[in-house]
Amino acid sequence: MKLKDKILVFSSSVTTVLVVALVVFSAVGFRWFAIHQTERHVRSLAESVKVGLTESMVHGTIPKRQQFLARLALVPGIRQVRVVRGPAVISQFGPGFPAESARSETIEQVLATGKEIFEVLEIDGEVTVRGVVPYIADDQGVPDCLNQCHKVKFGAVLGAVSIDVSLADVRRQGIVGVGIVGLAVLAAAMLALLLLRRMMNPLTESAQAVQAVTSQAIGGNFAGRINQRSTDEVGDIALNINRLMEFLEREVTTIRTRVGQLIGHQVNLGHRANEDGNQLVLTTEMVESLVQASEFKKAIEEDQTKLDIYQRLADVLRRKYDFNRFSIYEVSSSKNRMTPIVIDGEFGAACRYCDPQVTLDASFCRARRTGHEVNAVGFPGLCTMFRPDAADDTHICLPITQSGTAGCVVQIVVAADEAPLARLMVPFVAVYLREAGPVLEAKRLMEHLRENALRDAMTGMYNRRFLEEYVGTLVAGSQRRKSAFSVLMLDLDFFKQVNDTHGHEVGDKVLKVLAELLMRNVRSSDMAVRYGGEEFLLVLMDTGADAAMLVAEKIRSEVEATKIPLPGGVLQKTISIGVAEYPTDSDTFWQVVKFADVAMYKAKEEGRNRVLRFVPEMWDANASY
Ligand code: GH3
Ligand code: MG
Ligand code: MG
Repeated sequence: MKLKDKILVFSSSVTTVLVVALVVFSAVGFRWFAIHQTERHVRSLAESVKVGLTESMVHGTIPKRQQFLARLALVPGIRQVRVVRGPAVISQFGPGFPAESARSETIEQVLATGKEIFEVLEIDGEVTVRGVVPYIADDQGVPDCLNQCHKVKFGAVLGAVSIDVSLADVRRQGIVGVGIVGLAVLAAAMLALLLLRRMMNPLTESAQAVQAVTSQAIGGNFAGRINQRSTDEVGDIALNINRLMEFLEREVTTIRTRVGQLIGHQVNLGHRANEDGNQLVLTTEMVESLVQASEFKKAIEEDQTKLDIYQRLADVLRRKYDFNRFSIYEVSSSKNRMTPIVIDGEFGAACRYCDPQVTLDASFCRARRTGHEVNAVGFPGLCTMFRPDAADDTHICLPITQSGTAGCVVQIVVAADEAPLARLMVPFVAVYLREAGPVLEAKRLMEHLRENALRDAMTGMYNRRFLEEYVGTLVAGSQRRKSAFSVLMLDLDFFKQVNDTHGHEVGDKVLKVLAELLMRNVRSSDMAVRYGGEEFLLVLMDTGADAAMLVAEKIRSEVEATKIPLPGGVLQKTISIGVAEYPTDSDTFWQVVKFADVAMYKAKEEGRNRVLRFVPEMWDANASY
């Protein structure tokens, strides 16, 4: 029930109870008062009758006493006056008129006790007070009836007068009186109610306004204000609530704007708040994502490799934003290629939602080319490279900016019904990507520098330094797996001649061709190292010497068969290869390298263009290698 109604019901009930109580009390009081007054009236009448009878006796008109009594009964309100003789009087003067000796129970009682009795009776439909008052013999007054008239003792009951007085008139007047009082009270109560209502109006209206404004505020809308109607406590409440709302509106807007600036995107919360959002909740969500993005940045800064960062990004997309279909591409600026790094959370998977052409030429990717968000929600066909799973699929592609261009591209694929929500989430995802950008760039740079330091610039093969750094891991892995590996040492035969005959450039070309040939002939888990000028070293993982000999022989024959085109014809070279096995030949890696080298020199000695497996007999401990 509303406050206004409650007050109305309460005050009406109180008023009704008051009016009824007042009317009842007035009626009861009036009745008591009327009866009381009538009793007094009866007593006075009884006294008057006594005086009248005494006077009649003195003046000798006592025989006409009945007329006197009949006249008295004509007085308005008096229904009957009757005098009854007591036994003493009867025995002295006789029974008198018949009425004077007629008895009733009440009269007998009064005559016996000498005590007056009053009764309220219903006679002929009228409320009547009947009073029976005794006449007691005394020696007072003139004439002294005790000594001059009656032969009785002092205090004897001479007789009684019975008087009936109608209360009908009094009752009528009482009803009118009580009615007037009741009406007056009712009118006063109505007036009081009206005044109360008027007084309560500002309170109830303010209460309603407070209720409306605060429930709006709970829903995140702080625009509501209360009309201040008075300067009392209610007015103060209105004023304070208005101040509170202004404060909340201002502060939430400020926080939202600031957070929006940090996110780099203004989410139209006002609009959303009207629909289904709560400004405060949405602002808190924004702040929360900022905090999480900042924690994300801290975490990725401490990550070791860029793959760890991609993993975290994939986790954010999947776990936090519930995107299950997405691609993360890495753009290699030197080659203008895009490599799919993570597809739907799977590392190294093939590109799934784009024409594979983008991987070969990154400029086909719109996000990569423009460096801007490509949001196809509402713009189907925005990017012609998009390959959806289903007809109503759409995509949003976000670049991760590195050095001013898109260093990576994150593609989010959603069904049409998920698209509106995805679009709202994109600014938040973009915050993570913005945080990831510089860190990824730094990691890529580091990896690039490191890669450069560990690779030979001319051939792209690992250099000797890499081998030195990697050897610990290599040996530990082999020991852990209890698996042997082989080392091949390769040296071109008579390479000096190439330089001497065709010049250094041709020499370099020969080295490049050979490097490519070697890299082609080993698995990705193997290692190809440019060990010296025209010396190469291969480590074949989990490969014993016998299998390694086959690989070496294959390489040897391929080198022999390779025709290197020159301006003036073709060039063919041969190669000598020495093979040793770890840990069979030695459990010291560098010793195994040495043995492979020894075997290679042995191959040279034996006429070149051949492969030799190291045998202990080749090793002359005293020789200085
Ligand atoms: P052998 O069959 O005994 O190996 O004869 P070789 O002529 O190949 O002799 P050696 O291995 O001693 O020759 C190495 C030559 O390779 C010396 C050097 O001029 C040449 N060389 C080393 N590094 C490079 C390079 O990067 N480019 C070019 N063009 N030549 C190089
Ligand atoms: Mg050499
Ligand atoms: Mg050589």
